[in-house]
Amino acid sequence: MTRVAFFDTKPYDKVWFGRLCSEYEVEIVYFESKLSEKTSALAADFEVVCAFVNDSITEEVIESLYAGGTRLLAMRCAGYNNIDFKAAFGKIHVVRVPAYSPYAVAEHAMALLLSSVRKIHHSYVRTREFNFSLNGLVGFDLHGKTVGVVGTGKIGRVFIDICKGFGMRVLAYDPYPDEKLGVTYCSFEELCKESDIISLHCPLTEESLHLINRESIAMMKDQVVLINTSRGALVDSQALLEGVRSKKIGAAALDVYEEEGELFYEDKSTTILDDDTLMLLIAMPNVLVTSHQAFLTREALGNIARTTLSSIASYVKGEVMEHEICYQCDTCHKVTGQRCF
Ligand code: NAD
Repeated sequence: MTRVAFFDTKPYDKVWFGRLCSEYEVEIVYFESKLSEKTSALAADFEVVCAFVNDSITEEVIESLYAGGTRLLAMRCAGYNNIDFKAAFGKIHVVRVPAYSPYAVAEHAMALLLSSVRKIHHSYVRTREFNFSLNGLVGFDLHGKTVGVVGTGKIGRVFIDICKGFGMRVLAYDPYPDEKLGVTYCSFEELCKESDIISLHCPLTEESLHLINRESIAMMKDQVVLINTSRGALVDSQALLEGVRSKKIGAAALDVYEEEGELFYEDKSTTILDDDTLMLLIAMPNVLVTSHQAFLTREALGNIARTTLSSIASYVKGEVMEHEICYQCDTCHKVTGQRCF
């Protein structure tokens, strides 16, 4: 049995990993705390550590894990902007789950878009109090509107198909366009200028950090609707708040938030938040926030557990790990068919 230290555990993780771990000869020790500089000592003597999207895997954490004997970090998520890969290289192999259900995230993006433009979040609250008034609930048809999709990878292209089904005109921006996709690519600037709705489906990188900022918001159509199910820091939250307050932005629906790390996935309902920007955004009638739940479907959770456990099994057997990543990914195992180091 391979023992795995599992950080940031939620009840649904235990259900899906619990069902499959014996099949992969893995024994999991669950920790509720996030993996961070304060908690990395818990992983001492665990060769394998499993972490999640808001864990903070800094150089110090890598050094501490390595000193404690950890040699594999299995991320049970797709994004990996929270890892210091340079520090990990040569010490700890890192695997992730690149695709578990693009449908889960793309469908959530559409759920946010529909809820937002048809004001379902307001209707739900009203009818629970037997308030059947329609005042203030006027929305607009998606049919015929232009949606700008930023990032046409696995999730972006599913979202594009959904939007086409709604009869929307689709524009896309991606630095690596796929000409076979049958979508009209344009520059990011054109996308900002022409879209009624903008949905983000690109990773967080140095280039995409604060892609949505004061300048790009200024280029957008008045009353633009912004959907972000990718990573919070793609959007400068302060600029977004200003855009909402100035009524430039018609609506924003966010599944991710720049400073979500200490907040999302936790019950903070009896706490006074320190984050004024988030509090003000949530207080806006045209801002809808979900707490990084776009991935949360049964299908996705099952796939996450199976892919993560399968990568752990490959590591234990000394095999090449299909989903290994590192900071020099493009020049290592993908080319040579070896592990990253
Ligand atoms: P992917 O790698 O398949 O596609 C990403 C696409 O973005 C690629 O085509 C890439 O060329 C493009 N891209 C890279 N930099 C860009 C930039 N600066 N501007 C525009 N496009 C750029 O990834 P995916 O599986 O489609 O996932 C997309 C993102 O969704 C992930 O990076 C992750 O941050 C996010 N995500 C969120 C959740 C959630 O629960 N909210 C779950 C899974 C993934």
